[in-house]
Amino acid sequence: MRRAIVLAMVVGTGALGVAARAFQQPPGGGAQPANAPRVVEVEKLRDNLFMLKGGGGNTAVFIGTTGVVVVDTKNPGWGQPILEKIKELTSKPVTTIINTHTHGDHVSGNVEFPANVEIVVQENTKANMQEMRGATGIPQNGPPVNIFKANNGRGMPTKTFKDRMTLGRGGDRIDLYYFGRGHTNGDAWVVFPALRVMHAGDIFSGKNLPLLDANNGGSGVAIGDTLARAADTVKNVDTIITGHSTTMTMADLREYAQFNRDFLAEVRAAKKAGKSVDDVAGSWKMPEKYQGYAAPQPVRLKANVQVIYDELK
Ligand SMILES: [Zn+2]
Repeated sequence: MRRAIVLAMVVGTGALGVAARAFQQPPGGGAQPANAPRVVEVEKLRDNLFMLKGGGGNTAVFIGTTGVVVVDTKNPGWGQPILEKIKELTSKPVTTIINTHTHGDHVSGNVEFPANVEIVVQENTKANMQEMRGATGIPQNGPPVNIFKANNGRGMPTKTFKDRMTLGRGGDRIDLYYFGRGHTNGDAWVVFPALRVMHAGDIFSGKNLPLLDANNGGSGVAIGDTLARAADTVKNVDTIITGHSTTMTMADLREYAQFNRDFLAEVRAAKKAGKSVDDVAGSWKMPEKYQGYAAPQPVRLKANVQVIYDELK
């Protein structure tokens, strides 16, 4: 019995390693060997809200009156470590998962949660999760593995929203928003109004060049406006959980919207002036005024310029 489980885990890890590796170079994190111990770090943000780090995107754990809501479930193999960490925080059951978007480092742990957990996503993300296409600008190591197909549909969304939806009420209330295309075409913003916290997912992964995943509907033309719409619409939030970085503020979000608008304006002007994608990627520097922003990775920079050039055609 025990041996069978261990074997199944080893086989599972091997089969899903490709998908895992494809997403283990997230915008804000470093690569991890596939067999490294799965250490989930807990950061307490409020008495009943925790940020779980490691193994992919940042996970939020919200402990409500009767159950636990989990936002994002990390890379393949990280669902169980998340569940074990939650058990240290509360005896309440997980009732709901919200995935901010389709990427494997945010959704793959879904398949390890109990089958009766409700899974909520923006409707375009559900369509993306049916396909699990590789992301633009991330080198693929063979065809992407669809973890949901490999698990007979387990972990797929059970509920979707288009622009807005509210779950729960009072102190349990969660507001979901979709403000338009950016990182993908299904980026959900998850707000905990009673706690003044919002999970932004990878549309705000950190202070860096965003990953513009055109393969999954992402847009370099829209992302700045989408970020600004979020900053203008959502009120009474002090703390933003980013996709892969530390928590940020609404002022940081506003700055990030401007950063993306500035980048678009520069690329647009360069295209108008007849410059090539390589010209732009070879000469663009992080503007001095964006303090604390990561130096651009050349591959990401070129991919983003290309995505915008393609959109401006
Ligand atoms: Zn992502």
